[in-house]
Amino acid sequence: MVGWDSMAVHAGREDLAALGVHAVPLDMSTTAPLTSVEAGGLAYEQMATGGVPQPGQSTVYQRLWNPTVARFEDGVAQLETAAESVSFATGMAALAAVLLAAVAAGKPHVVAVRPLYGGSDHVLATGLLGTRVTFVHPGEVRAALRPDTGLVVAETPANPDLRLLDIKALVAEADGVPVMIDNTFATPVLQRPLELGAALVLHSATKFFGGHGDAMGGVVATSADWASRLRQVRAITGGLLTPWPAYLLHRGLATLPVRVRAQQENAFKIASALQSHEAVSRVLYPGLAECDPLGLVGTQMSGPGTLLSFEVDTADYAERIPGAVKFITHAVSLGGVDTLIQHPAGLTHRPVAADAKPHATMLRVSVGLEDPEDILADLVQAIESVRTA
Ligand SMILES: *Cc1c(COP(=O)(O)O)cnc(C)c1O
Repeated sequence: MVGWDSMAVHAGREDLAALGVHAVPLDMSTTAPLTSVEAGGLAYEQMATGGVPQPGQSTVYQRLWNPTVARFEDGVAQLETAAESVSFATGMAALAAVLLAAVAAGKPHVVAVRPLYGGSDHVLATGLLGTRVTFVHPGEVRAALRPDTGLVVAETPANPDLRLLDIKALVAEADGVPVMIDNTFATPVLQRPLELGAALVLHSATKFFGGHGDAMGGVVATSADWASRLRQVRAITGGLLTPWPAYLLHRGLATLPVRVRAQQENAFKIASALQSHEAVSRVLYPGLAECDPLGLVGTQMSGPGTLLSFEVDTADYAERIPGAVKFITHAVSLGGVDTLIQHPAGLTHRPVAADAKPHATMLRVSVGLEDPEDILADLVQAIESVRTA
């Protein structure tokens, strides 16, 4: 398979015709028959230490391995050009596994480039999993490295201000320390960080992979060595992706490229229109030249994406706008077929330290597949109704 769209439709399904089925088989088994204590025990030991079952071996127990989940992982690995991928119950469970793997390897120090998703910032700031963090801005990574630095963590585009960073430059600065890029906002449709030198790519699969706001999951695409370490953490801690959401997330991969491109087209129109609205003081969208000073759209990223943020004059004004939308939904999360609006400082980024919190005048919009005129009309009526209230 050569084309990316073809790959999205077929990845993880290559053997279905030979099996005599058309849709992905959904295997809900929590346990699997064993042929003998000895053979089952060996399979168990192998999987509990990060391996995968060999053909003909018992898969023992769903926490260790499941064929429906493995198909989704195979699909993600292909789209991210990774050797393997390992899935988890949520994006946060995936991040927790990466952090625990770094701690287990004796390298608990993490250099994290802000801004990050509020939950990621929170788990790092609390140090709850045994990591120690140095938060930095782009360009300050090298100076923050220590002998026990196990990981450099960054997002591009970043949640919620859509700031872009140069992944190749970040990898060079990290000086051999593994770089983990949260690629949730870009998806592999627009950006493939492993091709640029990142060691790990993390996704909240809850967002674009599912695409319909009805399945949670997280996944890390990486090398065989990291994948084995992550499977060991997953087998031990149990934060696994289960078959039904895996089935839905895998189904979502087939339409991921078309959804991303269509939503992106809408986002571009809305960002441009909001820019000329007198009540909007700033639009943050990678497709606007002033938001992409390094020229990364068209090089690192094939397009600017489907998320945008905008600022209004006062925090009070920003906090009232989500309550005034009619057709758009006021809700956290993103990447689905319907448009959502939320106030990052008050919601998704609430746990972030005051000096690193997003501006309280900012709102984030995840642009959906509706007619762009309808999305824009609703945003404009909400902005104007609150202003005149
Ligand atoms: C939502 C999100 C996460 C966390 O994923 P969950 O599936 O909600 O646990 C991590 N990173 C980014 C960029 C996100 O938007």
